[in-house]
Amino acid sequence: MLLRDRTAIVTGGGSGIGREIALTFAREGARVCIADINIESARAAVEEITRTLQIPAMAVAMDVSDEASVDFGVTAMTAAWDRVDILVSNAGVQHIEAIADLSLANWRRILDVHLDGAFLTTRACMRRMKAARSGTILYMGSVHSKVASPLKAPYVTAKHGLIGLCKAVAKEGAEFGIRANVICPGFVRTPLVERQIPEQAAALGISEEDVVRKVMLKETVDGEFTTTEDVAAVALMLASFPSNALTGQSIIVSHGWHME
Ligand code: NAD
Repeated sequence: MLLRDRTAIVTGGGSGIGREIALTFAREGARVCIADINIESARAAVEEITRTLQIPAMAVAMDVSDEASVDFGVTAMTAAWDRVDILVSNAGVQHIEAIADLSLANWRRILDVHLDGAFLTTRACMRRMKAARSGTILYMGSVHSKVASPLKAPYVTAKHGLIGLCKAVAKEGAEFGIRANVICPGFVRTPLVERQIPEQAAALGISEEDVVRKVMLKETVDGEFTTTEDVAAVALMLASFPSNALTGQSIIVSHGWHME
């Protein structure tokens, strides 16, 4: 087991990509704390882990954009398990709208969840990781950390910003044995993407089938969606990587949707 006796906190772990990562880490022996604004979904994921794997897991209610909520959640985890070895900063939301129509409130809402959320969870975990002189931080970026698409300005901006934060953490964390990397998935069929299909169809004036074929999958090498399992496999590889050789990097997992 690659993560035996390690502890991990996964934000947004109640659904989609985060849930798959939490389950994958638990299967590899990690105790996982699932932190989600939707506590019912976090509890359901914990129930699945404890029932199927007989391994301890915990759920905490957390709004990653709220300082007190993040600090409270990370403290609850370390009170129970004493340390945090791995942070997966994954919670995310999307907003589809043209820049000219976008309200400041919607701009801020997306940046708050992705950027404030990544900073606040990083700070809370890094304090513990520095004391322990070891830790791994994974940010859930996107192909939109590398390129832009229409109608997604705040999301594209936030996802690019995560690469900057990751590099800063990699520089500051190195002397404490802390490394940081970004995972950049292509389109994955989670609730976040299912909601986008009709929204993009309406905004672009095309059918939902064309959103899938021409917007989401056209640039892939095989016409396939990236899966939650694809992303979790990369997260496991990064979380279990044995040295600081792999830090400050952003790894694209997108069936070739974007290549560099
Ligand atoms: P999802 O909607 O299935 O899951 C997102 C989770 O985040 C949910 O459980 C939700 O309750 C939680 N969440 C939302 N706001 C939160 C907040 N303020 N505090 C705490 N939890 C919050 O979506 P997903 O597709 O699994 O997305 C997970 C991450 O992957 C996001 O950062 C997203 O941007 C990124 N991503 C997704 C795709 C994709 O195609 N699905 C592609 C690239 C990147």
